[in-house]
Amino acid sequence: MLAHLLYGAIRLPLWGYVAFTVATVQLMFLGITLYLHRDQSHGGLVLHPVLRHFFRFWLWFCSGTVTREWVAVHRRHHAYADRPGDPHSPVVFGLQRVMLQGYELYVAAARDQKILANYGRDTPDDWLERNLYSRFPKAGLSLFVVLELVVFGVPAVTMIALQLMAQPFAGGVINGLGHRLGYRSFEMPTSATNIVPWGVLIAGEELHNNHHAFPSSPRFAVQRWEIDMGWLVICVFRALGLARVGSLAPTPNIVHDRTRMDLDTVRALFTNRMHVLRDYRCGVIGPVFRELTKQESTALLPRRAPQLLVRHPKLLDERARQQLRELLERYEVLRTVIEFRDRLQRIWEEMSASHGRALEQLRELCVQAEGSGILALRKFALRLRSYAPAAGSESSH
Ligand SMILES: [Zn+2]
Ligand SMILES: [Zn+2]
Repeated sequence: MLAHLLYGAIRLPLWGYVAFTVATVQLMFLGITLYLHRDQSHGGLVLHPVLRHFFRFWLWFCSGTVTREWVAVHRRHHAYADRPGDPHSPVVFGLQRVMLQGYELYVAAARDQKILANYGRDTPDDWLERNLYSRFPKAGLSLFVVLELVVFGVPAVTMIALQLMAQPFAGGVINGLGHRLGYRSFEMPTSATNIVPWGVLIAGEELHNNHHAFPSSPRFAVQRWEIDMGWLVICVFRALGLARVGSLAPTPNIVHDRTRMDLDTVRALFTNRMHVLRDYRCGVIGPVFRELTKQESTALLPRRAPQLLVRHPKLLDERARQQLRELLERYEVLRTVIEFRDRLQRIWEEMSASHGRALEQLRELCVQAEGSGILALRKFALRLRSYAPAAGSESSH
């Protein structure tokens, strides 16, 4: 009788409690990343209505999350990433606050009716949502706690504590560390990072830099060596006819024997511009800087010089911008490579006016790069020609 009270209806070995807790938490993470994030927030994934409802129920049941609130706060994060107005940016609020008080920041934004009205569109508004999920958001969680206590008894206390901490913890990690620690494959005006290349603990959300670079892509892994657990599950759902996906982050189609630059090249470069900029950073700025350090006293080069040269200017504070200006004034070779990068980006910004003009400008840029006397820049200019449209999409130009 006492054992029954202590251990509830079902007594498991220790590994059983661990496995059950891990399974429920992972199911919650999948609900967040697949349903709330990739499907509802960005639309790059369309889950079968049964799956959508299952995840909506599960998130209500084990975390009390309301779809419209989560989606609105998240879309707002993308719209204002790392600027005032971002609901949970470590750049705005400080890393410690986002890590430790992330849930409070989320709740404050979720209660903001303007955010809900502007960013919460096209989320569920059916009878169940109005009369149960949104109306009694904590009822599911209460039921979850009581059921788990009845079924597992005292061990459930630890399990429930872990399950309840998992979502705020994961939120703090992604919104805090995912904008601070890790590596940046793509440069853009947000500080988002890929925390680790294997997104297996938080279902792929770890690849946050890739996600900010290609927000509507339902696949977060971009490099061959990255793993997105959420995407692997999507592949299973697709095979079962339970999910459809929109366009994925582009993969450059490199054709080495393309010798001339034409309108197809212009379009391919534009589509893959994030990859082109990454190539420029790794293949031009990096080698040129390393060459410079061999010739120059390192005392003249600030320690953060590599970062200053590659970071998006909007992410640099006034002191960093001043250091960058001094660096570029002192070294012509650095000035040249940064100017080339900026010209390339300007061509893309103005490209919508005329593709023909963009082609002319790109050809001119390549001629100048080849005559610059900077080996890395010359090689890059040659590589630009090898960007081809994705297989099957070549036009007749
Ligand atoms: Zn972010
Ligand atoms: Zn997102």
